[in-house]
Amino acid sequence: MLDLAQHPHRRRNLLNGSWVLVSPHRTQRPWLGQVEKSTPNAQPEYDPQCYLCPGNTRAGGVRNPPYASTFVFDNDFAALLPSTPAEKDDRDGLMIAVGEPGICRVGCFSPRHDLTVARMSVPDLTLVVDLWTSQYVELSSRPGIGHVQVFENRGEMMGASNPHPHCQIWASHSVPTETAAEQREQEAWRAGHGSCLLCDYLARERQSGTRLVCQNPSFVALVPFWAVWPFETMLISKRHFGGMDELAPAERTDLADILKRITTRYDNLFHTPFPYTMGFHQRPAGGSHPEWHFHAHYYPPLLRSATVRKFMVGFEMLGMPQRDITAESAADRLRAMPEIHYLDSGLM
Ligand SMILES: [Zn+2]
Ligand SMILES: [Zn+2]
Ligand SMILES: [Zn+2]
Repeated sequence: MLDLAQHPHRRRNLLNGSWVLVSPHRTQRPWLGQVEKSTPNAQPEYDPQCYLCPGNTRAGGVRNPPYASTFVFDNDFAALLPSTPAEKDDRDGLMIAVGEPGICRVGCFSPRHDLTVARMSVPDLTLVVDLWTSQYVELSSRPGIGHVQVFENRGEMMGASNPHPHCQIWASHSVPTETAAEQREQEAWRAGHGSCLLCDYLARERQSGTRLVCQNPSFVALVPFWAVWPFETMLISKRHFGGMDELAPAERTDLADILKRITTRYDNLFHTPFPYTMGFHQRPAGGSHPEWHFHAHYYPPLLRSATVRKFMVGFEMLGMPQRDITAESAADRLRAMPEIHYLDSGLM
C-alpha cells in the first residue's frame, strides 16, 4: 500500500500538469526546531536614496509625487515596450520568435519604506487591492493586451532590487507559459467534469483540512498537494470568479486580511522577513473565461532557517522538482504559527 507520508512518490500539479517528486522518508528525523534569527528589520521609514520613496528622484530624472497611500508608474527599465511589433519570425520552424508588445509598471504599496505587507493595516492593504484591481481593469481593456500579471518579489534572495514594499505589473500581448498551462488544465477539467477545477479541489481540501493554513469568509490559504517549494502556498477564493474586477466589497477586505495573515505566518516561521515571489493568476483579457478561478501563489525559497534555502539543481533541473518535507507537514508548521508579527509581539 502506497503511504504518502512514507514512500517516495510523484504528485501531479492539477493546475499546470507538471509533477513533483516527494521523498518523505528523508525527513523522518524529528525537527530540531532551531531558528537562526536574522537581524531585526533596520529599514528606516523614509530613505533619501530610495527611488520609490515619495518625493525622491528616479533614474531618468522623474520625481515621485509626495504620495500618501499607493503609487503606480511605468517601469523606467521596462521588460516590455508598447511599440514592439507583434510579428512572427519563423526560420523553417527551427528558430521561432514572436514580437511581444506590452507595458510594465511598478506599484508602491505605501509611502512607508519599512512597512511590509505583514505589518501594514488591513484598511491600507485594501487600498493596495484597489490599485491592483484598477490596473488589471485598465490594462486588460487595452487593445493588444492579452494578459496582466501582478506580482511581488520580496527579499534580496528573490532578486528584489529595492526593500521598499512594491509590486510589478506586466501586461503582455500573449498569455504567458504558466498561465496558458493553467488555462488548458482548467478548460480540460471543465470539459471533462462540467465543473470548476479549483472549486472541486478547494472543496476536497476544506473537507480534509490537512493542508489548510488559515481562512476567512472569502479566502482559504493552503499548501497545495503538489507544492514544490518547502512552504509554498496558494490563496484560493471560496466563491467562483475569474478576476479582481469581480471582487465584492467584503471580498476586497478579506483578500487584504488573508494577505496580512499568510505573510505574518511566513515571517514568524524563521523570525525573518520571509523572501518570496507571489502573484495573482486571473482570467486572461478578452472573452469570457468561465473556467478561470481567481487565486494567488506564494513561492518562498527558504527551507530550514532564515539563511538556508532550497535550490533547484541537479535532478530538479534535469528531471523534475523534488521535496523532502511533505505538503502536509509544511501546512502543520504554518498552521501552528501565531498571527501576531514577531516584531510586534516582543519576541525578539
Ligand atoms: Zn523607499
Ligand atoms: Zn471555481
Ligand atoms: Zn495559478
